[in-house]
This record gives sequence, structure tokens and C-alpha cells, in this order.
Amino acid sequence: MSATAPAADPQHGMAASPRLNLDARQRAMLAEMNVRVWAPRAETPAPVPASAAPQRQAPPVGDSPPPARPVPVAAAAAQTAAPAPQGRPAAGLRPRPAGIESMDWPALREAVAGCHACKLCNGRRNTVFGVGDERADWLIVGEAPGENEDRQGEPFVGQAGKLLDNMLRALGLDRHHKVYIANVLKCRPPGNRNPEVEEVAQCEPYLKRQVELLQPRIILAMGRFAVQSLLQTTEPIGRLRGRAHQYHGVPVIVTYHPAYLLRNLPDKAKAWADLCLAQELMDRASPS
Ligand code: URA
Repeated sequence: MSATAPAADPQHGMAASPRLNLDARQRAMLAEMNVRVWAPRAETPAPVPASAAPQRQAPPVGDSPPPARPVPVAAAAAQTAAPAPQGRPAAGLRPRPAGIESMDWPALREAVAGCHACKLCNGRRNTVFGVGDERADWLIVGEAPGENEDRQGEPFVGQAGKLLDNMLRALGLDRHHKVYIANVLKCRPPGNRNPEVEEVAQCEPYLKRQVELLQPRIILAMGRFAVQSLLQTTEPIGRLRGRAHQYHGVPVIVTYHPAYLLRNLPDKAKAWADLCLAQELMDRASPS
């Protein structure tokens, strides 16, 4: 599919698309995302605010600037517990299983299921490894399991997951075909609190190995924690959108977390623009 990034209608926050080739099903999905698509008349192009402009001039994948301002989250790549700033093991941290960097899918899945490297293992019902096609082109990275995910052992099965499924469907994708969905954290933080730095650091090698095994063509980093973990930056999402970044050679597109979008409906148009940019990069890399 050739998706076209929409631009926001300044009056209604809707999505305009100058090159419409969405089918009825995709329009229905976009409607469900609250993104209404309209076609501007050729003689009166609508003004486009910079914040939601179509991302047409994305640099080639290799052109992304180096990540700015490192954050400490993924400092612990070694197969040991992340040290506390004073050099002592931080409270509640234990070593991860050895050899994550060379594990195959079953070994990695088993390692995650038995992981006790941080205190999140104490409260979990299930680890949430990831779901989808192990030869996926698209890797979606979220934050951490919530209550539903913890219960079912699958990422994005609650309300945010429904929105994510709709966003994928609007691109002609679904969570079991050409898509893999994983989180930064494989265990639920209690009460859905934010992940802690040490928890992210302890879990990071699992996601890194998932990326190595998958070799996706594109990564969609959804939300602050995915972005911080993958890109090692504290730059706000609004400043990182609209261009391709890199994670170990894989292009990364930054966008909002579906849970955030459920609370901030007008930003769905921006998320749609981000998806279209990702699709455009894919099309450019291997045009149909
Ligand atoms: N939010 C996430 O980031 N991941 C999930 O799996 C569910 C909600």
C-alpha cells in the first residue's frame, strides 16, 4: 500500500491527504482512530501547520543525526546486574541469564519467562515476551505490560492495544503478519507506574536480542520509554518525530504511545502522519 501522510486541517484537526488511495476499510480504521481524511481542492491548497505537516522530506534512513544527550537507561549491556551509581548492585537487582546475545527465539523466550533480574518479577502473573511474526518487517515497541497484558501474557491487549490494532489495520497490517510487537519491559510495573531506570537497563538486552533475531526493516518506537530506551535520548517526542533515527542499523520512527493518544485525540492525526512516514521509508527502500 502506498500511504500518504495526512496534514491536519487547521480548523478541525482532521487529516488531509493530497494523494488519496485509501480503501473503504482503511478509511473506516482511520475514522476509528478519529482521523478523518479529506481531499483539498486542487486550486485551494489548505494551509498546513508545521506541527502536523506531511513527513515527505524524510532523510534517507542512513542520514539520521546521532542521538542527542544520552540517558543512563541502557548503560548495562553486560550480562550482569546493573550497578548502582556507587558501584554496588542496585537494590532488588540480580544477574540476568548469561548468553542472551547469542540466544535463539526459544532460548530467549525461556530466559525472559524465568527472569528474576529485577524486582518486577515479584508481582508479575506472566512475563510478556512479545507477539507476532518472527520474520516481521515492522517492529512496534511499547513501554511495559499493563494489567490485561500481565494477565494474558501478550502485549497491547487492552484499550491501547485496540487502538494500535486499528492503526496497524489502517496500514493494511495486523499483529500476526509482518508485524512484531514487544515492550521495553517484559514485566508489569505495579499499578502501571513508570518503569525505573534500573528495570529498563536490566530488560534492555532482551529487546536488543529480539531486534537482532527479527532484523526488522523498521521500528516504530511508541511513547517516551520506548524512545528513551532505543535512542538513548531524553529529547521530547515532538522534537524527534518526522525523521528516521537508528537503532543498531535499523531505522526508527518515533511516535506517540496509543494510551497517550486515547487521552489526546487531536494528536492521532500526528500519529497517522508518523505511520505514513514509516510506510514511505519502507516503500522507498523497496518500491513495489
Ligand atoms: N502499553 C504498553 O506500552 N505495552 C503494552 O503491552 C500495553 C500497554
